[in-house]
Amino acid sequence: MTAPRHIAGIHHITAIAGDPQRSLNFYTQVLGLRLVKLTVNFDDPYTYHLYFANESGTPGSILTFFPWPDAPRGSIGRGQVSAIAFAVPAASLEYWRRHLAAHSVAQHEGASFGERVMHIADPDGIPLDLVETETSEPTLARTFGPIPPANALRGFHSATLSLYDGGPTAALLEFMGFRFVAEDANRVRYKAPDDAAAIIELMRGSQGPPGRLGVGTVHHIAFRTPTDEQQHEWRNDLTKRGHSVTPVIDRKYFHSIYYREPGGVLFEIATDPPGFAVDEPAGHLGERLVLPDWLESRRSELERRLPRLMSTVRQ
Ligand code: ZN
Repeated sequence: MTAPRHIAGIHHITAIAGDPQRSLNFYTQVLGLRLVKLTVNFDDPYTYHLYFANESGTPGSILTFFPWPDAPRGSIGRGQVSAIAFAVPAASLEYWRRHLAAHSVAQHEGASFGERVMHIADPDGIPLDLVETETSEPTLARTFGPIPPANALRGFHSATLSLYDGGPTAALLEFMGFRFVAEDANRVRYKAPDDAAAIIELMRGSQGPPGRLGVGTVHHIAFRTPTDEQQHEWRNDLTKRGHSVTPVIDRKYFHSIYYREPGGVLFEIATDPPGFAVDEPAGHLGERLVLPDWLESRRSELERRLPRLMSTVRQ
C-alpha cells in the first residue's frame, strides 16, 4: 500500500545575504554546516547561490543564500518567514552557549512549546533559533564538520511565518497534509506527518507593515515531495484550489513549483531527487564553482565578475 500523498516537511529555505564570504564563514565555522554547492543564481548569474546543509545536502537541512552585497537591507515583517529554527540534540545548548560566545555571537535563551530555545541572528540579522529536541533526526546531522557530532545541528526544526490572519494559511497547510499540534498565545504550531524538519509555526496578529525583501530576509520556503509525479499532482490540486502556480522549473538539484500562500509568503514545492551529487562527486561537494551547462561557456567571464571566496574550513 502506498502512503497517501503528503508534504514530508521543509525541503530548503532561501534567504538574501550581504557579503558572501561573511555568510560562508558563519554557516560553516560557527554553525558547522557544509557548503554543499557553490553555484550562481540561475536567473542572475553575476550573483552566487550558496547552499549550506548537512554532509550530503539532505532535504530538511538545506539553507541557501543569494548574496547581494550591494542591495539594500530588507525588513522582516508580515508575509515572510520571520525565523528559522534548527534542531539540536537534547542537552547540547551548554555546548552552543560556549561555542557561540567564543565566536562573539549574541544569544539569549528561552522556551517555546516546552522546548529550550537559543535565539541568535546570522551576520545579516536573520533570526535563527537552536531548539533542543529529543526527536531530532540524526540523519540530518553534519557528522564531519567543526562541531562535535553529539552537538551538531540536525536539520531544520521549524520555520515561523509572520501573518496578520493565520486562518487561510492554516487551511492551506492542512490541504498540504500538515496537522494542528498546539497553540501558545499568538503562535500556532502545525506539523507534517514525517518527523524531521516538519514543523511550521504561524505567528498570528502581525500588525506591522509587510516585510520588505532585501539583505537579511528570507526569500521563500520550499517543501518536500518525493517524485515529479507527485509534484505534478500538487500543481494540479493547488491550481484547482485557486492558487497561481508556476510551471515546473528545473533547478538542477531539484525541480520546483512556486506559489504564494494567502498570507503573502512565497512557497515552493521541490522534489527530493536528483540532489547535489548530480554535477560533482558526493565527497567533494561545494569545493569549486559549478555552473549549469548553459552557463559553462561563460565560466571565465563569470569567475572574473563574481567576488572571490575563500573556503575557510576543510570540507
Ligand atoms: Zn527554493
